[in-house]
Amino acid sequence: MKIALVVTEQNPRQLAEMTTFVDLSELESEACEIWRASGITENILMALETRYREAPQDMLLFASGIQGNELATRLATRLKGEACCGVIKGEFGTPQPQFTRPVYGNALVGTFSARGKPWCVSVARSSRSDVSSVTFPQVVLPVSAQPPAWLVAVKRLEEIPHPALNQARFVVVAGQGVASLQNMERVKELARQIGAETGASRQVVMNAWCEMESLIGMSGALIAPEVCIVAGVSGASAFNVGIRDSHLVIAINNDPDATIFNTADVIVVDEMMPVLEALAECFR
Ligand SMILES: Cc1cc2nc3c(=O)[nH]c(=O)nc-3n(C[C@H](O)[C@H](O)[C@H](O)COP(=O)(O)OP(=O)(O)OC[C@H]3O[C@@H](n4cnc5c(N)ncnc54)[C@H](O)[C@@H]3O)c2cc1C
Repeated sequence: MKIALVVTEQNPRQLAEMTTFVDLSELESEACEIWRASGITENILMALETRYREAPQDMLLFASGIQGNELATRLATRLKGEACCGVIKGEFGTPQPQFTRPVYGNALVGTFSARGKPWCVSVARSSRSDVSSVTFPQVVLPVSAQPPAWLVAVKRLEEIPHPALNQARFVVVAGQGVASLQNMERVKELARQIGAETGASRQVVMNAWCEMESLIGMSGALIAPEVCIVAGVSGASAFNVGIRDSHLVIAINNDPDATIFNTADVIVVDEMMPVLEALAECFR
């Protein structure tokens, strides 16, 4: 099978996400090629179409996010293929491959069957960032620098990076159980004392107890620390996707039936603030 991994920016995140898809789908031994194309999405689309006509592929992979989804969908339409967005992995044992992707705000996983080629697939986000082992051949596509005549203005929105959280070995994540801005400030201080980064659930960010950059979950950072301490978080699926790659999850919650306990490795049924204070004291 011929597969093109379309990379549109320098950020290694894109290649890391697509390589995760390749690994999970057991496609490492297929003829994979990296197509680098940067510029305005409209012009990238034209460059991809031209390249595809010269070198047809069975599948084109795109990174997660708005641009990847747009490129996958629009290219599939132009090439009369099929598109699927936010895909975790594919199974290719049958003539009609099956693509697996989260649906309903990550509450369920759906399997979708594809028909006509090429399959244009944008992949799901992943916490992986290391691409040092990727050795696929690369082609740089010529992309026109001139915007199309109908495009009157282009505004580039800055991506909010989560470098510290993404690379942290230890993370303390606070949920709504933290109860106040003052307590959240204390959690940050305690996390700092034990050498951890601080993350937060959406409720905490929405209450303005913590900055947006600290959001963990499907709308925020996907983290993979060695130890993730999750305190006062209920464990909604949209949150859990953000911590699922953690090596060890320690959950603190005063509700013995909290959903987060279903996925945690260590559970502490107690008030979160005294437990975090005691933990920091142990470290001291
Ligand atoms: C499309 C979509 C995207 C979303 N994306 C995200 C996302 O990226 N990240 C995210 O977090 N959410 C996201 N959500 C929201 C998510 O569904 C939950 O609503 C949210 O994660 C709940 O946050 P929480 O667990 O902090 O709050 P709650 O659900 O209110 O849970 C608070 C928990 O704290 C416990 N608690 C209370 N007091 C204490 C105490 N003193 N000590 C210990 N425990 C205590 C309670 O028992 C409870 O379990 C998304 C939702 C949708 C629909």
